[in-house]
Amino acid sequence: MMDSARLDALLTAAGAYRWGIAAAEPVDEAAAALYLDWIAAGKHGEMGYLDRYHDVRRDPRLLLDGAVARSVIVAAFNYYHPATSRLPIARYARALDYHEVVRDRLRAVAEAITAETGASCRVTVDTAPLRERYMAVKAGLGFVGLNNLLIIPGAGSYFFLGEIVTDLELPPSQPCTMSCGDCGRCVERCPGRALDGRGGMDARRCLSYLTIEYRGETMPVDSLSVLYGCDACQLACPHNAAPPVTEIPEFQPSEAVLTLTRDDIAGMTQQEFSRIFRHSAVKRTKLSGLLRNLRYLVLT
Ligand code: SF4
Ligand code: SF4
Repeated sequence: MMDSARLDALLTAAGAYRWGIAAAEPVDEAAAALYLDWIAAGKHGEMGYLDRYHDVRRDPRLLLDGAVARSVIVAAFNYYHPATSRLPIARYARALDYHEVVRDRLRAVAEAITAETGASCRVTVDTAPLRERYMAVKAGLGFVGLNNLLIIPGAGSYFFLGEIVTDLELPPSQPCTMSCGDCGRCVERCPGRALDGRGGMDARRCLSYLTIEYRGETMPVDSLSVLYGCDACQLACPHNAAPPVTEIPEFQPSEAVLTLTRDDIAGMTQQEFSRIFRHSAVKRTKLSGLLRNLRYLVLT
């Protein structure tokens, strides 16, 4: 067993802004059915990994090798920084890659848990078939908005989520029961008309998906208003009116990314791309993807 104060000390030292515990229980039937309907409708686009391991995604108890998971510790890490970039690159992608940063920070917590309790732990940061926003709601961190992002009341949505799945029995937090109410601003402001206003999202219409995940050489749209990622549904959200600024050094935006111009990208060599983006989430799209996005970028 590990008491809540010790866990809090570990997660706070790791830089978590908010954290909570969800019991590792199967996802409820309605949420599981919605997900499968979404996949069946093809709204996940080319993200084939979302259509695999449905048994594990449905039942987080299966996430540990050789042990049955009992708890999921969900932690939110703030990445908001008010600096502006010359090109429309989503805020989350202007600093070091969160997969690496959050993973390293949570690994230190997981190692301490194992050392102090003998429990098995697995750290995930978008790297396992886990319904992480669903778990975050169960863990009391916030609610999922109509923009499909986790919203932490009073702090907004500029957060990365990471989890420690463990066979340690921990007392679950109180789930969050808030919702968007009748707001709908993100739905109106979405440039791709990707949000249906009922909580659904068609990734194939989402500019974030198109500029990051979509691999086609030509875009299924005439033009793009963003180069990499899209923050429009976060900018529209009243919960992000005064977001807290990150204190995590790795999430301070890179000057090299903030000052990039259209000409810089157009003339970029592979060596330059690697130097600027080696530890950035932007590496996912590769130089060829960034150049493709640039061809469609129309700045207003
Ligand atoms: S990221 Fe942009 S395109 Fe995608 S849902 Fe949000 S506002 Fe729409
Ligand atoms: S903009 Fe409004 S509807 Fe959209 S996520 Fe924020 S609160 Fe919810």
